[in-house]
Amino acid sequence: MRAGPVLFDLLERLSSLTRVWFREHPLLTELQPIQLSALLYLSRCNRYSNTPLAVTEYLGLTKGTVSQSLKALELNGWLVKTQDARDKRSVHLNLTPQAQALLGAVMPPDFLQAAAQRMGTRAQDLEGLLLDLLRTIQQGSDVPSFGLCRTCRFHRTLPAGAFCELTQEPLEVIEPDLICREHRMPDPVDA
Ligand code: SF4
Repeated sequence: MRAGPVLFDLLERLSSLTRVWFREHPLLTELQPIQLSALLYLSRCNRYSNTPLAVTEYLGLTKGTVSQSLKALELNGWLVKTQDARDKRSVHLNLTPQAQALLGAVMPPDFLQAAAQRMGTRAQDLEGLLLDLLRTIQQGSDVPSFGLCRTCRFHRTLPAGAFCELTQEPLEVIEPDLICREHRMPDPVDA
């Protein structure tokens, strides 16, 4: 059997199981799936990527749908908007303590954690393979990769700490492990 259809079936099944787990979780009854996805993204992205446009691009949905969901999240106390210090037209979205506590209680999903524990080191191998799959799919495509900062071609580790060559700004300790809208894969010669 060809790998493509089987891979697709597996990814689709895992995605349905995750959706069911979220839908049935007693702590998540107040949130629609798209609202939860937006919160999950905002909990993992860096300060260059927590804008409404980046949420829209990451989720691959229309601006109107995402905008309505973000408004509902703000209204219900899950996130707050702040104006960009340099560009007054741009806003940043930050999780409230209420949202951070919720995600802290439900993530990572316990069914996944338990399965990964049972798989032992094979779970780490699988993570590496899935990352390879994602990179392969994204190669040559003109969409933001939303990769991990520490794997970006602009990431530098200097004696004073991590530094972004694109923005020319130092990075906070936590930032190399966050995802970024500006992330670019290293050139093959640098890899
Ligand atoms: S190094 Fe890359 S991923 Fe990290 S903040 Fe800069 S552009 Fe984003």
